[in-house]
Amino acid sequence: MRIKTRLIHGGIEGDPHTGAVSVPIYQVSTYKQDAIGQHKGFEYSRTGNPTRHALETYIAELEGGARGLAFGSGMAALSTILSMFNKGDHVVVGDDVYGGTYRVITRVFSRLGLEATYADTSDGAAVEAAIRPETKAIIMETPTNPLLKVSDIESLSKVAKKHGILLIVDNTFMTPYWQNPLDLGADIVYHSATKYLGGHSDVVAGLVVTKDAKLGEELHFLQNAIGGILGPQDSWILLRGMKTLGIRMEEHEQNARTLAEWLEKRSDISRVIYPGLASHPQHELAKRQGRGFGGMISFDVGSAARADEVLSRVKYFTLAESLGAVESLISVPARMTHASIPAERRAELGITDGLVRISVGIEDVQDLMEDLEQALSK
Ligand SMILES: *Cc1c(COP(=O)(O)O)cnc(C)c1O
Repeated sequence: MRIKTRLIHGGIEGDPHTGAVSVPIYQVSTYKQDAIGQHKGFEYSRTGNPTRHALETYIAELEGGARGLAFGSGMAALSTILSMFNKGDHVVVGDDVYGGTYRVITRVFSRLGLEATYADTSDGAAVEAAIRPETKAIIMETPTNPLLKVSDIESLSKVAKKHGILLIVDNTFMTPYWQNPLDLGADIVYHSATKYLGGHSDVVAGLVVTKDAKLGEELHFLQNAIGGILGPQDSWILLRGMKTLGIRMEEHEQNARTLAEWLEKRSDISRVIYPGLASHPQHELAKRQGRGFGGMISFDVGSAARADEVLSRVKYFTLAESLGAVESLISVPARMTHASIPAERRAELGITDGLVRISVGIEDVQDLMEDLEQALSK
């Protein structure tokens, strides 16, 4: 089954009891047992719920893994993964990962004795140099946010295997439609399903898929023990949203490519970052490890003042954090998502005050272009 068909027919189709074509919302906490321990596969909804189970089966199939697990947010998903580690364990983490990832590792799991080193995951030697005897995993994002740096999943999976540690990939930006980290050698893939998978700015959720069943069992134990599960209603919203992931991602990408090429031709913009552009430093790698380049673009308008002007003039780009929904969003990372990073560190990374990030929606690209044109040219 090809990915577009798998998005429609993958996982559990409808309801075997009634023939309902969509999976029903099992709004239930507990299940009747005919005798002690005799049940139909569900005992209590923290442990398992049929609607969540349908979503978990579906994402596992889409990512090509053995076990899927659904959580109340991307951060709940990551926190459950991090709960596999013990006091004194060490992880190597990408140096420009999502701010919340950095926060939960440095301010929460550090208190429990998990140690971390931040390294540029687009540099395999830097990652390898950061590995210690206590290292248990490499945690990476590709492409990163907002600089859209691309890291080589396959080569990092070889580094991980050589050292007997796990490779954990945040696949939020690419989605299983464009990129399958497990096929490239990763052990665990996770998503903020709040973004492209949900796709409609109406749900906060996290999804995890493990390559092998044993790791899946371990994470299910933690999911049940910690309890950060996704509820049945939100599981259903996600199942519904994901059916159209294929057509949405195609549109996001086509619009993003058109806008990136147009922005790159403008003389009043110093830098356009989009992995689909030949000018992107890891364009060839992005082409090799994925089937597409996604819908995120960053570009530099030169100053904080000009960024403010652009933000105040756009009509179709909503000023908001988050990404990946049908509507186009615009943000200034230095003063929004990355404001908590010290200014010197931001400068080192290249997150300038004039850097604008857009999550390209699925509106008519001509309207988006005209909107940016008037916002940039006054
Ligand atoms: C949003 C995001 C997260 C966190 O997910 P939530 O659903 O907001 O908890 C993690 N990683 C990336 C790349 C994100 O964009």
